[in-house]
Amino acid sequence: MSDKKNETFDVIVIGAGPAGYVAAIRCAQLGLNTACIDNWINENGQASLGGTCLNVGCIPSKALLQSSELYEQTQHNLSSYGIEVGKVELNLNTMMARKDKVVAELTQGIAGLLKANKIKVIQGTAKLMSNKQIAVEYKQKQNRYCAESIIIASGSSSVEIAAAPLTDNLIVDSSGALSFDEVPKKLGIIGAGVIGLELGSVWRRLGAQVVMIEAQDEFLSMVDKQIAQDAHKEYKKQGLDIRLSARLMSTKISAVEKQSCVEVTYQDENGEQHEIFDKLIVAVGRRPNIERLFDEEAELILDERSYIHVNEQCETSQPGVYAIGDVVRGPMLAHKGSEEGVMVAELIASNTEIMANKTERLGSGINYDLIPSVIYTHPEIAWVGKTEQQLNAAGIAFNAGVFPFMASGRAKAQGDTRGMVKILAHQDTDRILGVHIIGNHASELIAQAVIAMELSASAEDIALTIFAHPSLSEALHEAALAVDKRAIHIVQK
Ligand code: FAD
Ligand code: AMP
Repeated sequence: MSDKKNETFDVIVIGAGPAGYVAAIRCAQLGLNTACIDNWINENGQASLGGTCLNVGCIPSKALLQSSELYEQTQHNLSSYGIEVGKVELNLNTMMARKDKVVAELTQGIAGLLKANKIKVIQGTAKLMSNKQIAVEYKQKQNRYCAESIIIASGSSSVEIAAAPLTDNLIVDSSGALSFDEVPKKLGIIGAGVIGLELGSVWRRLGAQVVMIEAQDEFLSMVDKQIAQDAHKEYKKQGLDIRLSARLMSTKISAVEKQSCVEVTYQDENGEQHEIFDKLIVAVGRRPNIERLFDEEAELILDERSYIHVNEQCETSQPGVYAIGDVVRGPMLAHKGSEEGVMVAELIASNTEIMANKTERLGSGINYDLIPSVIYTHPEIAWVGKTEQQLNAAGIAFNAGVFPFMASGRAKAQGDTRGMVKILAHQDTDRILGVHIIGNHASELIAQAVIAMELSASAEDIALTIFAHPSLSEALHEAALAVDKRAIHIVQK
């Protein structure tokens, strides 16, 4: 395959986030001589693999969501379970140190996995040149590598807006919001999307008054309407002040009683509004990392939103150069990037003689319609497939089965009966078209729906399956029965 010069590989992966490191591991498993180039530097100035997801995304946010949830439960809910505790105090330093430890252990774990798979990790910033050459810059030095196949997995960064330029610690993006050194009294968040809601939940539970400024008039427009409305009510009850149809106009750093603060001006239906916050988080979305990623001669075609243009198999406009994860179309989710990584690795291997004598079955592609989404607030929101509004817009007739956790014995015993499971099934074929869950452990429950839909199950298939009692999963069973109006533990009209 490759000649044995050090700088030549079968595959070079640019980026060691969940798309890149998974692609690299799968390439190595399949016998390809693989290198992975990454330029992430953490707060301590050290290289740290795992990309956004492990360093400042999925993992640290979930560590803080867990800590803040426990803090809130201990403060307000334990007595209802018959547990009396003394004064509950917050130790934010310990909470942050725990989060950092979780991140360090996982990022070091990735380094260990790459090493064990004999993947050469190259630190530095990669640039794609012509003829599948890669120039890597590290500490003002440049090295060149080349490979027969290249996988770009350079990820994404927070969108910055001119109306709210980031400052050291007053106006921050999601990364800054994972490292506040004190709980802001009043916290503003621009954008009530997934990231804004998760970060807002963390800091509200820890004591901040949270105001969210959202330009859209519809709350969580990508979520099934019934679930989004339920969620909106629940978040309001919790104290998240979500202001819709509110567009940020400008920000100004000023001081109140010698304390620095952020003055925010936004526009809503009633005109110009003003608020003063101790801190402001800008969470208005993410954009693909494409700056200085390729030389003029190696120019790749971008799509209209500046994602690298790829086909169904993630191949770019240059043969042998692939792109996966947040830098290409599709939902910006870790598991979507990882699956693309596996698909591309297997595609590359299947085009070489490596697979000639192997019997291993390789995947045939990704079903982009069945990528689950989760919002890790409490209650959690999780969904897969089509929403009611999407089916209506497409003119597809369906039956809906809904089962509320209020009627679940396990949810009652656990002391959290918020939310529901909703299944949408085709009116004629009964095939499941979408599953939408709001409630405790929705992120875990949705996997059952994904498996069912991956196997083209009908609602009746789930209805005929035996679920353990008592379990939250029974709500999925009952929702499937409800599609045919025969749920047992709610009255069916
Ligand atoms: P990234 O993870 O961004 O990794 C790209 C890597 O490439 C980085 O290490 C970067 O430094 C490196 N790189 C970039 N350019 C170069 C270059 N030229 N040379 C060398 N290296 C380069 N997703 C979920 O699925 N679930 C969640 O719960 C979730 N929570 C999130 C919470 C937050 C606060 C944020 C910000 C994101 C969250 N996401 C979540 C999104 C998730 O983090 C991304 O979808 C995922 O990290 C994308 O993976 P990736 O490998 O494509 O890119
Ligand atoms: P997400 O795409 O899930 O990360 O969410 C980002 C949210 O930020 C979206 O709901 C956008 O509507 C919202 N948003 C983007 N720009 C602005 C702005 N200038 N003012 C208020 N909200 C915004």
